[in-house]
Amino acid sequence: MNDLTSKNVQNIEISGIRKFYNKVQKYPDAISLTLGQPDFNVPDGIKNAMIEAIEQNKTSYTSNAGIVELRNEISNYLKSLDIEYDSKEICLTIGGSEGLMDVFTALINKNDKVLIPTPAYPAYESCVKILGGQIINYSLKEDFSVDFDHLERIIKEEHPKIMVISYPCNPTGAILSREDSIKLYKIILDNDIIAVSDEMYAALCFDDKYYSIAQFGDLKSKVIIVGGFSKMFSMTGLRIGYVCAENRFMNEIMKVHQYNVSCAPSIVQWGAFYGLKNCMKDVEYMRNEFVKRRDYLYSRLKKMNFDVNLPMGAFYMFPSIKKFNIKSDKFCEVLLKEAKVAIVPGSAFGKGGEGYIRISYASNIDKLKSAADRIEKWICSVYN
Ligand code: PLP
Repeated sequence: MNDLTSKNVQNIEISGIRKFYNKVQKYPDAISLTLGQPDFNVPDGIKNAMIEAIEQNKTSYTSNAGIVELRNEISNYLKSLDIEYDSKEICLTIGGSEGLMDVFTALINKNDKVLIPTPAYPAYESCVKILGGQIINYSLKEDFSVDFDHLERIIKEEHPKIMVISYPCNPTGAILSREDSIKLYKIILDNDIIAVSDEMYAALCFDDKYYSIAQFGDLKSKVIIVGGFSKMFSMTGLRIGYVCAENRFMNEIMKVHQYNVSCAPSIVQWGAFYGLKNCMKDVEYMRNEFVKRRDYLYSRLKKMNFDVNLPMGAFYMFPSIKKFNIKSDKFCEVLLKEAKVAIVPGSAFGKGGEGYIRISYASNIDKLKSAADRIEKWICSVYN
């Protein structure tokens, strides 16, 4: 029986985020702050562009890489972030998720070592495990920036082939600083390593300037970007993302993509094209709203004496619960049962996530207020 299915697949579990989300379904009166799904509607312009694309019967396969119009717009958008890729170096994928899997599949041979931060978005470890790669974790500091002492030591000892970089970060909300981007640049330049940079939340950076390892032109032969529109245009269910890489990588990524999905959905490609050309004001509006929500939730948690960093990107907060002396999954379970608020245990994001909880503030302030009121009341009754 054990050989009936892949051992690599048997050895992974479904995402802890989904697991917890499923538990929440049993508590219909619970307020759920679990998923990375903004509560904004897709901008009207994007909806109309997709309706128009259907009416014009743009429903056949596109080229494997996707429509050149959208790839050109992504190239322009990245240029505005000081990142240079031309349309031939961009492949449209079914969300960032397919992009990540394509990239790892194209890169990983059995037992190849892959450096993954902890805590991190859980798909990295699961993809690598499915592909038979070996995971090596690198630590983050208290402020969720890279622990460079640990990183440099581990690269020297383990000689990993690939390194995952993930900023703005799900689950911590941390972004990459200029100083840290320069430190990473030097490390990648000096070592035989490929950096996979997940920049899914690039459009949701709350700092004036965006920093990415992909901004260093002379690293281009060593860096691959995964990006997408799920969060940027609040279109998670429409499934569109992209990968950017130099030809030597892209040729292989393209094979995986082709045999896996042929192309991203044609209609959604036209929607994202319209979005990049015309809906950046909507993105700005959503980003500003996220900043208001962040500030609200942060001040509420601070008042409850949580140790919490101010997130500078994405829409997640990652408070510490270490002082409560309780495992994160237990904490979340009791909070759900007793206070009817659902959040995700930090342990869902790997070893480094234990001792934390992830709260998604993609919901409106009224909902955040009701959730914060419930948490506050529960904390007062249980811990005071
Ligand atoms: N990367 C990160 C860091 C994410 O948080 C997510 C989704 O939550 C993804 C990739 C996958 O994005 P998509 O929904 O476009 O597949």
